[in-house]
Parts: sequence; C-alpha cells; structure tokens
Amino acid sequence: MSKLKKTRTLSNILFALRWQFRLTPGYVILRFAQSIFGNVVTLFEHTFLLAYIISCVEGGKTLIDVLYFLIPVAIAVAIKLISGPLVEAYLTPKANSKFYMDTRMTLYKKAAELEIAKYDDTAFYNDFVWAMHRAPEQIFNATNTFIQLVSMFVTALIAGTYIVATDATALIVVAGMMVSTLLLQHSITKRNMKREEELMPISRKRDYTNRVFYLANFVKDIKTGAIADKLKKDFTESSEQMERVAVRHGRMITLLAVLRDGISALAFDGAYLIYLFYQALVKGKYGLGSLLAVYNAANRLSGNIRRVIMMLPRFEEQGLYIEKLRTFLETENTMPDSGTLPVPTQGDLVIEDVTFTYPGNDKPTINGVSMHIKQGEKIALVGFNGAGKSTLIKLILRLYDPDSGTIRLGDNAIGEYPIGDYRQHFGALFQSFEIIAASIGQNLTMNDTPLDKKKADEVIKKAAFWDKLNSLPDGYDTPLTKEFDDNGVNLSGGEAQKIALARVLYADAGVIVLDEPSSALDPIAEYQLNKTVTELAEDKTVIIISHRLSTTRFVDKIYMLEDGRVIEQGNHDSLLAQDGKYAEMFRLQAEKYR
Ligand code: ADP
Repeated sequence: MSKLKKTRTLSNILFALRWQFRLTPGYVILRFAQSIFGNVVTLFEHTFLLAYIISCVEGGKTLIDVLYFLIPVAIAVAIKLISGPLVEAYLTPKANSKFYMDTRMTLYKKAAELEIAKYDDTAFYNDFVWAMHRAPEQIFNATNTFIQLVSMFVTALIAGTYIVATDATALIVVAGMMVSTLLLQHSITKRNMKREEELMPISRKRDYTNRVFYLANFVKDIKTGAIADKLKKDFTESSEQMERVAVRHGRMITLLAVLRDGISALAFDGAYLIYLFYQALVKGKYGLGSLLAVYNAANRLSGNIRRVIMMLPRFEEQGLYIEKLRTFLETENTMPDSGTLPVPTQGDLVIEDVTFTYPGNDKPTINGVSMHIKQGEKIALVGFNGAGKSTLIKLILRLYDPDSGTIRLGDNAIGEYPIGDYRQHFGALFQSFEIIAASIGQNLTMNDTPLDKKKADEVIKKAAFWDKLNSLPDGYDTPLTKEFDDNGVNLSGGEAQKIALARVLYADAGVIVLDEPSSALDPIAEYQLNKTVTELAEDKTVIIISHRLSTTRFVDKIYMLEDGRVIEQGNHDSLLAQDGKYAEMFRLQAEKYR
C-alpha cells in the first residue's frame, strides 16, 4: 500500500479502460452514456425543475407553462429510471461473462507461455498470482471508477457554469470546502493505510490458525496433540490485538471524518444559505426559485468534488493493481524460440560439457556434465538430494538453457527445434504429478480430444490399473476427486501414481522421464514401478531419477551425480565392482532396509 504513489495511476486506469473497451465496446459506451445521462438528469430534476416551478408560481404563469418544462424532464427521468436497472441487472452480467472469460483466457495464455525460470523470481511470481486471481475484477472496477469520474465531471461543469452565470460567490465556498476536504481526507487515508499496515501481520497470524483448523493435512495433529489449545490461544490473542489496533485508529478516523463533513455542512447549510437568503430577501437580488436553483447547483458541485476527492485513494489502489497486471503481461520470455527443424521421432540424446547456474546463485548447479544417451537406452541419474539430478532434467527438457555446452537430439542442437514441439518429445512423470479434477479418460488424454479406447485399455493394463478401472461402474467417465462431483473418486497415492504412469504411456512420447516418481512408495514398490516402466517403455528411451540406488539396478547405465558433476558411470554391477562412492552409498542404503 505504501507504494501507491509511485505508480502511473492515470495511465494504468486508461489501460484498464482500453482493455475493457476492446472486449466489450458497446457495453462501455452504453455505460458512459447511462452514467452521464443519469447524473445530468438528476441535476435538472433536483435543481432547475424545482426552481422553474417556483418561479412560475411567483410569476403567475399557467399550468401549461409548467408542463412545457415538466414533461421533457419527466420523460428524461423515466428513461433514467429504466436505463439504470437495465444496465445494472441485464447488460452488466451479460458483458461481465464475456469480459471475464476473455480476460482469463489472455491470462492463461500468457501463463502457459511463461518459461519456468520466471517462477523462481519471487517478486514476479507474487504479481503473477495476484493477476491470475484479481485482475479481471480490478479492471472492471477501474473502468467503473473512471466512468463515474467522467460523469461527475460533466455534472460539475454544468452546475459550475450555472453558478458563474448567477452568483459566483458560491465558488469561493466550494473552493474552501475543497481544500479542507482534501487535507482532511488525506489524513484519513494515511490513517487507514497505517491501520492496514498494523493489522496485516496480525491478521496473517489469525488466518494461519483458521487454515490449520480446516486443512485436512493438519487434522491428525489437531486431534492428537495440544496444538489446538495453543492455536486457540493465539487466535484469541490476535483477535484482541486486532480489536485494539482497530479501535485506536478508529477513534481518530471518526473525528477526522466528522470534521470533514461538519466543515462542509457548516459552510453550505449554514454560512452560504444565510448569504443567499440575505441576497434574496434583504437585497432582493433574486427570487425564491433562483435561490433554490443556485443553492442546489452549488451543493451538487461541491458534492461531486467531495466524491471525487474521496475516490482518489481507491483510484490509486486500482492503478497499482493494474500496474501489476501490466508487469505480468509485459514480461518477455528470454529463452529464444527460433528453431524451425522438425523434431525427429527417434534419436540419441547427447549432452556435451554442459554447465548451468541458476539465476541469483553464485555457484553452478550443473558443472561440465557430458552424457551420450542412445535411442531406447534406459538410464538412471542417481545421487544425494541436491546433487543436480532434477536440474539436469530441466536442461534436457529445455525448461532452462545451459550457460555453456550443448545438448543435441538426433543430429541437431535442441535449440534448432521449436520449443513446444521439442518438449512434446518427452513424457515426464514428476515427483509432484497432479490428478486433474476431470474424468479418468481426460486424465489420460489431458485435453479435449476423444479418448482412444484401444490405446487407453493398453496403457491402463500396463499401469496395473485395469482391475480398479473395471470395478468403477462409469469406467473412463468416472470423475476423479470430489472437487466438482460428490460421486467423484479419490484415488489412493499408489492408484494416483498408476494413472499418472498411464498418462505418460498414453502420450507416447519418444523419451520417458521418471523424476523420483516413487518417493511416496516404499523401496520395494519403487523398485517394481521403475522396473515396470523400463519394461513397458520397450524401444523408448527412459531416464529415471532416484536417490535410492536399490531401485535402479536393472537399467542399462547409471550416472552418479555429486555437486553437479558425473562422478561415476556404468551399470550396477560394474559400479559395485569399482567400489567407489556408488558402492559405498548402496551399502549404506541396503543397511537401512535390511
Ligand atoms: P536433486 O534433483 O539432485 O535433488 P536439484 O537439481 O533439484 O537436485 O537441485 C540442485 C541444487 O540446485 C540444489 O542445491 C538446489 O538448492 C538448487 N536449486 C534447485 N532449483 C533451484 C532454483 N529454481 N533456483 C535456485 N536454485 C535451485
């Protein structure tokens, strides 16, 4: 919040306006027209109509004279009354649905295009999360604020012109009121921000307690330990603390607000009204009708100015949010995607002297690694946590580009292929695979294309999910997770993994990557899974990553990594015979599982 001032508020608000205009131009124009029309009609209705009727009575005019003015105003009021709900209740929801859909689509497209390195940039990531959650709503709000501002400005202009033509004294009162409101409102805004800043850390603590009580993964701790008592105490304390902060600032804010409104009331309903009566009754400068009109016009002018002043902080806040959205949208991928060659369906993967340092780190995570992975070969990358196994995979998948060295698939450096096509060459089963809240079939295809039943049956059998599938009455149409469907099926960790495995096989990629797929399994189950995948993959290249050496002994070749270097390579038996680090680590782990 404290950074509000530094943003390009107006430029951001105009950005929001342009955005919404592009998606729903008709709606934006209508909204402008309706808002300006409504405000101007109200001004006529409350200011000039009344004044005119009174002056008619004073001047002895006939009913016909009154109707001349009354009828058009009545028609305008009727249009205003109908157009308000029409826009609010009918057109807005209609435009909203298109607007939200198109805006989210733009955001999804951008998010999908973003390279993975961007996710490591915390500041960027925060803006990204914000944009995904709240951008549409904030664009909509900013546009609304702008429309309100413009219609208030138009009304103020008409009222101001009338005042200048009748009795410009009101402008002095309006100017005085404007200065006092600006100053007091500024203090109120500052107070509010301070209150928010003080409340933020306390409310975060309180929210944490709240989360712990409803998130399923804490339930066991809550039921078994004394943690619930501690949390409840924390919650009470934070709540009391929040109340104290709110009350302390609340008192001052109330005082300032009373002062702000009181000064305006005194100036208008007191001093100015007395002045007007003096001019009308004592000086005889104008009649009761004009008195009312000029008083109402001044009131409306000042009312609008006050509302604009009070809207300014909101305006700035919306500007800040739009700024985040623009930062997100303007972020460019730095990884070049200029390759044009078709990706071969088969080919060796050759890594030559590759070195890579994560942005912001001072030492390389991958340091001079070379490998030649032949088509169809089954290999394992092993080593302790942090050795660089996953990073090497990220380089192979071209989620990052190495600082030096080259990676080739077939005859060409991987940069020679379009990134998207190149990545399709891999089917990866990551540590953190996700089951999507959709049918089993869609969890295999991962898109809208119809399920190829024959191929699906084949991979489901291979993944050993066949019996389970047949036990479900809806088969491939069974919804997974209970997110959208009470009849949805929640799979066990092992079953979910089988679906993830079937998904990789279904994708029919040239290279299968298993990134510690079995960390949720015991070593025997992991061994079996790795072995299954290796056998299932037949002529495909398979890369397994594991820190459990016992589970990768059947592969063609094992690369042992340490500190980003390949320290030993060979098959299980030759590495044991070598009696180096691999052998030592294997014995240590075997000890544990004995
Ligand atoms: P492994 O898969 O062998 O456990 P990783 O490749 O995941 O190891 O990580 C190797 C090292 O790189 C670790 O020290 C880790 O802290 C660092 N690292 C991993 N990801 C990132 C990242 N996104 N940004 C900075 N450092 C990272």
